Amino acid sequence: MDTGDFGTLVAGRECGDCTVCCTVPAIDDTQIQKKSATTCRHCTQAKGGGCGVYDTRLTICRTFHCAWRYLPDMDDRWRPDKSGVFAALDKPDPGALPPITLMLIGNPLRTLRETWFIDFVRKCALKNRPVFLSLPGPAGYRPLRALMTPQVLLQAARARGSEVKAFLEEALKFLRSQPFPEQVLKHSGNDVSA
Ligand code: SF4
Ligand code: SF4
Repeated sequence: MDTGDFGTLVAGRECGDCTVCCTVPAIDDTQIQKKSATTCRHCTQAKGGGCGVYDTRLTICRTFHCAWRYLPDMDDRWRPDKSGVFAALDKPDPGALPPITLMLIGNPLRTLRETWFIDFVRKCALKNRPVFLSLPGPAGYRPLRALMTPQVLLQAARARGSEVKAFLEEALKFLRSQPFPEQVLKHSGNDVSA
């Protein structure tokens, strides 16, 4: 989870009932650790709540926000628990927009055929924002991630939405053919994997 400074959060946009980042990604921090695809034991979402230690949650939990919290281009349907897309920003090269990883956590094929998903990827390509497509691994495994080749994506984005869709479907096919790498956490001492 990258907690870099990605600008201002969208005003008035809150996590609500979403707790995706308390389950999907691994947390590998000096203060807190969690395997990927396991729910943090402090998460009370199953009982209708959120973080059970909200007021005392650790720095990484206070500072991480998914891309939906930062980007006005992503409307309300992009909230990760509603859209099936856990989107996260990475540190950018100087002068460039932060790359975005679109992790498909619901029904991947159905999601990437949605008009709102294709339109967003097109906009990223036209703005030169690097886009990665990603699939989450099972518990304890790293996600798979593939960079959408910028020139090819741009060419597709300038043409038609159907070409972007075909490009995304090819990328998904490629990801599905790859093995998930095992995740070895670097830190220990406060493993909150449930
Ligand atoms: S994934 Fe995003 S919207 Fe969901 S809880 Fe985390 S920061 Fe909030
Ligand atoms: S401690 Fe962090 S990961 Fe765990 S439920 Fe709270 S915010 Fe989520």
